[in-house]
Amino acid sequence: MRPTGRLHLGNYMGALHNWVRLQHDYDCFFFIADLHALTTDYADPSRVQQNIFEIALDFLAAGLDPGRSVIFKQSDVKEHDRLLTLFGMFTPLGWLERVPTYKDQQAELTEKDLNTYGFLGYPLLQAADILLYKPDFVPVGADQVAHVELTREVARRFNSLYPGDFILSPEAAPWELPAILEKARKLAGEPPNSTRTDFSPGQLFAAAEQTRKLSPFGRRDILPEPNVLLTPSPKLPGLDGRKMSKSYNNTIALSESEDSIRAKLKVMVTDPARVRRDDPGNPDLCPVGDLHKVFSDADTIAKVYDGCTRASIGCIECKSWAADAIIRTIAPIQEHRRDLERRPSVVKDVLANGKERATKRAAETLAEVEHAIGLS
Ligand code: SF4
Repeated sequence: MRPTGRLHLGNYMGALHNWVRLQHDYDCFFFIADLHALTTDYADPSRVQQNIFEIALDFLAAGLDPGRSVIFKQSDVKEHDRLLTLFGMFTPLGWLERVPTYKDQQAELTEKDLNTYGFLGYPLLQAADILLYKPDFVPVGADQVAHVELTREVARRFNSLYPGDFILSPEAAPWELPAILEKARKLAGEPPNSTRTDFSPGQLFAAAEQTRKLSPFGRRDILPEPNVLLTPSPKLPGLDGRKMSKSYNNTIALSESEDSIRAKLKVMVTDPARVRRDDPGNPDLCPVGDLHKVFSDADTIAKVYDGCTRASIGCIECKSWAADAIIRTIAPIQEHRRDLERRPSVVKDVLANGKERATKRAAETLAEVEHAIGLS
């Protein structure tokens, strides 16, 4: 998540809400992408530090748990920049130029000069961000799949240029042996507390294949291609009816006060067919209707459809129900946030611990990468 301001409801429903659930099933790494913030905000980075703090508060308040997941700040782990530099050596320019958001964002953010090396390269930085941690999955909404595809291409190119060592030499990848031995014990039907290590090369090979560390040629891909884990990203319109986004200045913050939420919703656009109170409308064509679908319960949604299509309710009333639902949904998060705000050292400690844990994993990968390239 880029630290360009407090998180808004679109960030929450499209990502954070899913991440909180995922950390119960996976070992997750979540980071605040301050280097990515600079790709668009390089001319005025004065808010970046404060925004990092705000986003860390939002992460923790929404339920990211530093006991389960690694939560860190991107620029704290220098391996990200180093891997980006190495990827830059072999990534064709055309791969970056054809990323859909490159041209779109340049067209949208016309007040900023995004004709820069850093902005063109941000998808490659994302590839480094991802591959350093060798993830099985990258949780994204449908609109981010193209970015993960680029990451997979970069991994493929790296692996074909710099094939890994043969896995069956234990010295080649000592850090992977524990996982492979554990799998070999399982395959051999050993009891759970077994410490057996005397497996045949064939048994080790089968175990290594199953832990997905081997290419079909018996080599270990140094950077396994990650898969997309498609997470629900419901349509969440901003106040002007376009996608909720800081760039459009149409957001409702996760930490927005109740009064401000109600005031903002009052001026939110509605179905243009409802010009007068007695004109019937259609919640499927109204951004407020979309908010109800995300935040309201089934009874309220039924009332909205009935009242809107028969013109028996006014938009002001309908918007106040939407505000009620949003406020109800985010109240526990805001409560938790207020508590954390009183203890700012918690954020500092979480990021320091995350830095240590992320660096350990990233340094392992970078060591392998540099060894394969011949830098060490
Ligand atoms: S009644 Fe509600 S759903 Fe219908 S147009 Fe007004 S705000 Fe939109």
